[in-house]
Amino acid sequence: MYKIMTAGPTQVRENVRQARSVECTNPDLDPEFFEFYKSTCNMLEELIHADGQALILGGEGMLALEGACASLTEDGDRVLVIDNGIFGRGFADIVKIYGGEPVLYTTDYKRTIDIEKLRFFLEKDSDFKYATLVHCDTPTGMLNDIHAICPLLAEYGILPVVDSVAGMFGEQVDFDKAQIGILCGGSQKVLSAPPGLAMVWVSDKAWEMMENRKSPIRSFYANLLLMKDYYKNMAFPYTMPSSCIQGLRVAVENAKSDKEIILRHRKLADSVRTAVTKSGLKLFGENGFSNTVTAIEVPEGLTGEKILEILKRKHNILLSGSLGEFSGKIIRIGHMGENANISDISSVMKALDKTFFDLHYGLNDKLYDTFLEALGF
Ligand SMILES: *Cc1c(COP(=O)(O)O)cnc(C)c1O
Repeated sequence: MYKIMTAGPTQVRENVRQARSVECTNPDLDPEFFEFYKSTCNMLEELIHADGQALILGGEGMLALEGACASLTEDGDRVLVIDNGIFGRGFADIVKIYGGEPVLYTTDYKRTIDIEKLRFFLEKDSDFKYATLVHCDTPTGMLNDIHAICPLLAEYGILPVVDSVAGMFGEQVDFDKAQIGILCGGSQKVLSAPPGLAMVWVSDKAWEMMENRKSPIRSFYANLLLMKDYYKNMAFPYTMPSSCIQGLRVAVENAKSDKEIILRHRKLADSVRTAVTKSGLKLFGENGFSNTVTAIEVPEGLTGEKILEILKRKHNILLSGSLGEFSGKIIRIGHMGENANISDISSVMKALDKTFFDLHYGLNDKLYDTFLEALGF
């Protein structure tokens, strides 16, 4: 067994794994299941400070992104795709599939979105039905300030669609205050349930936009409107994966009872970043460091593959590489959810120290020592 310290899926706590093995029901026919589903959604709404409706979808995190785009986009709709990362730009492909016209707002991948520059752009062009943006763009660990960006978009009458799959619960998300239209989440990141479920939070305004479409939504599985009145109708459009939802429920309870969850992510991430910097390694990016994942540049002369391979073979630890143009050039520690604990991160630090030693790459300071020191040990 490897210790998975990747940027999702994360480790899964035993109480979540056990919850997935309880007696099964028929989720289409059992009224208790509808209550159970609804109360779980209500907990999700509470955690994200949302007046809007939360829904759990039977599919991996991408279904939340696709559900938002499928349900909002009509032919020829202009959609602002805010792009300072790989998931950020990826939205353009989904928008296109559903007939929209993505307009990319591309900025430096090493920097978080600058509000004043975005305002400057919107002053010239704000004719967009909705905008997509990513909270934590995981492949580079880039964190955008959704609580500043979304209200700005809303000011221009643009509905914000936010992918916080890798941010929420480890980073503050305040749905109402940010004026988010649709928020996307997944089970396998900070919540630390196994992969397989997506979550969306939908504002009244977003529902209204879907209901006022001129053309029907061109999807069945990704059609959020079909889910909207599940409780009133006591019917889901497809059979819900009830065992997955049993597990998610306990993961949500775990998050809810963890009053210091955001603070803990920040402290651990801060200490990881201090250790990386003091060792002489470089963090990827210039600002906007997410507290859920740390992206480290692979030093000149080494390859990401080699580092990850040694970690895996000699230390039984899986870390993430990156995607697209960053693959091989970045390694990432996923210190989110169940992974966000001193003991596991210390093991990663120690293993990285040994790996760099094996590769004859000299570090200024030991990652392990500085990590613990930064935490006050
Ligand atoms: C994990 C993640 C998703 C879900 O996508 P998968 O690659 O299928 O796991 C979506 N957006 C972001 C930012 C993510 O980190």
